[in-house]
Amino acid sequence: KVRVRFAPSPTGGLHLGGVRTVLFNYLFARHHGGDFILRIEDTDSTRFVEGAEDYIMETLRWCGMEPDESPVAGGPYAPYRQSERKASYRQYADQLIANGYAYYAFDTPEELEEMRTQFKTAENPSPQYDHKLRMKMRNSLSMGEDEVQRLISEGVPYVVRIKMPENETVSFTDMIRGEVSFSTGTVDDKVLLKKDGMPTYHLAVVVDDYLMKITHAFRGEEWLPSAPVHLLLWKYLGWSDEMPQWAHLPLILKPDGNGKLSKRDGDRLGFPVFAMNWTDPRTNEFTQGFRERGFLPEAFVNMLAMLGWNDGSGKEIFTMEELIASFDMSRVHKGGAKFDFEKAKWFNHEWIKAAPAARLLPDVKNVLTTAGLSVTDDSYLATIIDLVKERCTLLPDFVEQAGFFFAAPASPDMEPVKAKWNLDKNLFFTDLQGVLADLHDWSAASIETAFKEMATARAIKVGELQLPLRLMLVGGKFGPAVFDIAALIGKASTIERIKKGLE
Ligand code: GLU
Repeated sequence: KVRVRFAPSPTGGLHLGGVRTVLFNYLFARHHGGDFILRIEDTDSTRFVEGAEDYIMETLRWCGMEPDESPVAGGPYAPYRQSERKASYRQYADQLIANGYAYYAFDTPEELEEMRTQFKTAENPSPQYDHKLRMKMRNSLSMGEDEVQRLISEGVPYVVRIKMPENETVSFTDMIRGEVSFSTGTVDDKVLLKKDGMPTYHLAVVVDDYLMKITHAFRGEEWLPSAPVHLLLWKYLGWSDEMPQWAHLPLILKPDGNGKLSKRDGDRLGFPVFAMNWTDPRTNEFTQGFRERGFLPEAFVNMLAMLGWNDGSGKEIFTMEELIASFDMSRVHKGGAKFDFEKAKWFNHEWIKAAPAARLLPDVKNVLTTAGLSVTDDSYLATIIDLVKERCTLLPDFVEQAGFFFAAPASPDMEPVKAKWNLDKNLFFTDLQGVLADLHDWSAASIETAFKEMATARAIKVGELQLPLRLMLVGGKFGPAVFDIAALIGKASTIERIKKGLE
């Protein structure tokens, strides 16, 4: 059975690239009828950030990608937080040491720092802890067994490092990139177990993917250089046959294609790069999210899926169900995908236009009430949503496009009609109030007829009267058909707004 995992470290808000990784995991799992697991990789306590795990869970919920197994939902391989699995890693580190694949290292931070300057040469400008240097450092390969035992029994802190082979080629078949090979000689002896007994990512990811029976592992391309370490750990632990298939997802690039999209690009260019708003509790630094900017999750998910994937037919609008049905790893691009905020907005606009009013209602109600408007009648709101939704790209656009249905414009700006204003027009709108007050059938058609008959009788062009009416009712040169607006806001409000417009 297919089992995939999203394995974030709870270090902050979820970046677009992170959410796309979740999405590809989720689509792949659902397409194959498999399980989607959320595992929190919180072994690095120095990078742990309060609230980040809740943020991740909330993002998955907002996007409609609920995990089958997670720290909250539980599951057969619980716990799903690595910090709670601490006890299970040690034995594997011990096993690696016993079989000669890993070793104890006692070097202090100062000694490690010194190594970087002491061994710096023209051929080796940035020395790392590897086969070239390990015998010059303080570890169980470079010292006698007695000495090692003595240090351990004295409680001298140590880490466990992998012994990377000096000259081996390791390769694997990536689901996206095909055959990928590395030569082990350039990779350093990564730490597997830290001084505090916590595993590093390298050990924990292998042990947990094994114990949780993960069959396919999707992660960002930035992890590709670590792949040889992981491949060797699978082999050294004797689990090669059970290793998941890997897929290293291409990066999401800056709009100009120049490098990886960062939070800073969003701040600079004014678009969100996080799924939801996030305030870093340590610095109070705020980062805007797609949700609060006014994206529908359907559009957000759709847009993300198209960053690096398509079904080959040119189709761009997909529901989650359609994505699940057509998702196919062989159509994931190898190259990075440029992020284009205008295109992202296009997706949202398409989704808003096509959504039934009932779907948009809670979201629109939320933006309207947040803007201070009072919305009491849902069926009235639903009618208005259908009337204006095609003019809205982001949810807050409904405040401008629908707000005047709920409150009269503060002070209608009559400037656009000032130049051609005259006494006849003034009289027309004064008398119109009485005519409308007597109108029995308050429908758009009957208001329009009364309005036009009156204009014809006074020999004023209807075209020159409609814009002033719009400005009075709406407060600006926008909105749906003006007689529809009058019909919806009602007789009293229409007359009231005309009166105010003449002041
Ligand atoms: N914890 C890693 C991260 O935060 C996960 C990488 C993986 O999926 O293996 O990116």
